[in-house]
Amino acid sequence: MELHRLSALELADRLKKREVSAVEVAEAHLARIRALDGQINAFLKVDEDWTLQSARKAQELLDRGEGGALTGVPVVLKDNISTDGVETTCASKILSGYVPPYDATVVANLKAAGATLLGKANLDEFAMGTSGENSASGPTRNPWDLERVPGGSSSGSAAAVAACMAPLSLGSDTGGSIRMPASLCGLVGYKPTYGRVSRYGLVAFGSSLDQIGPFARSVADCAALAEAISGHDPLDSTSLAHPPISRDSVKQDDLRSIKIGLPRELFGEAIDPAVREVLEAAINQLTLEGVEFKDISLPSIEYGVTTYYIIAPAEASSNLARFDGIRYGPRAEGTGHIGLVERTRAEGFGREVKSRIMIGTYALSAGYYDAYYIRAQQVRSAMRREFELAYQSVDAILSPTSPIPAFKLGELNADPMALKLLDLCTIPANMGGFPGISLNAGVTAGLPVGVQLLGPALADERLLGIASGVEKALGGPPAHWPIP
Ligand code: GLN
Repeated sequence: MELHRLSALELADRLKKREVSAVEVAEAHLARIRALDGQINAFLKVDEDWTLQSARKAQELLDRGEGGALTGVPVVLKDNISTDGVETTCASKILSGYVPPYDATVVANLKAAGATLLGKANLDEFAMGTSGENSASGPTRNPWDLERVPGGSSSGSAAAVAACMAPLSLGSDTGGSIRMPASLCGLVGYKPTYGRVSRYGLVAFGSSLDQIGPFARSVADCAALAEAISGHDPLDSTSLAHPPISRDSVKQDDLRSIKIGLPRELFGEAIDPAVREVLEAAINQLTLEGVEFKDISLPSIEYGVTTYYIIAPAEASSNLARFDGIRYGPRAEGTGHIGLVERTRAEGFGREVKSRIMIGTYALSAGYYDAYYIRAQQVRSAMRREFELAYQSVDAILSPTSPIPAFKLGELNADPMALKLLDLCTIPANMGGFPGISLNAGVTAGLPVGVQLLGPALADERLLGIASGVEKALGGPPAHWPIP
């Protein structure tokens, strides 16, 4: 079988048995990228020397018999994750040419695990978006249908794995940016509990919401990558003093012993009937397998999108103040200090990013701070408490991930609110800091539909175990991917 079709764990196994070398695995995936990425635009940068150098290091580890679960396995990185010596632009003109002088902790962890670093993936500029269309380098296309979006903001990370250009990738999730594209591309996408994966070296968007997490074609592969990147990091003050997510403690849950909540608010009008149909079939199947479902209500969900679109832009407006043409990236000509900063920011940021900076600055300004930002934080606390209460009577919460399947490029561009409303189901996990995972539940009209599972904070291993049980009950990881 061609190497690009193997899962991460299958590749690791063959590497360990010396049936293939890490360089061969890297070359196979680089060839696949050369063949396909012209159509998909999943990558902003592929640095073959960098990739082959990490593959050779992996082979050294394997030769010494020191390889682990990911040694020699290719991993793609979203381009808001800093890589020492390799350009990191966040798909923004304002960072074009910026080369970080250090690795993000997740990258350092992957290097220590001997993973092969395959390239930097396209995204919505500074991770702001839901479709993958807000990149200064052009939109990414969905491998299932090239006329459609892959979902965002981790658009390239998802498209790369769905097109089998890589078995694994990393994205970041502030309001759904891993789970949304996972759903639209038929993948497993997982946002860990806030603080379990270091944010050191992740270009900050909404610091209290951002979390790095994996994409894979199966739950088992996803758990292997989660293990490699997680764990306490003294370089991130919000990192939890908790051991890495342990793959060994992920036990495929016996579905007969679990209780799952179905929040009424995430099965209503906002959800496309075709999506609801796929979800209902999945729920029926899981009921046959013994899952006990319980209808629950989480009324604060109604305010989730509005609240998120105050808190996230507020944090972004402050985080993005550092891009002033003086410390990073290109500098525009301007008169005096203010003129220079104004011109650089006017030319460097795209439309969506500018709109977020303006909304955030407004929400934080004197006179409006209490009415918007403080109010939003109060709703956020109420939402967290509501979920915590729900988790006292259920093991997990199940919902659609996205209200609609992949839509056509440009289809929702005229209405920015319509795009933002698609974040309805994914936002609560970020607001509460809870873990969330999306996996494929089925297809409608040839397009994948994701199911989201949410769990209580720090119950990551349990959530992955439930996801693995659900994956099996729904027929196992998909055997067919859109581009053979
Ligand atoms: N779609 C949301 C936004 O545009 C979420 C983005 C994210 O998770 N990075 O802000």
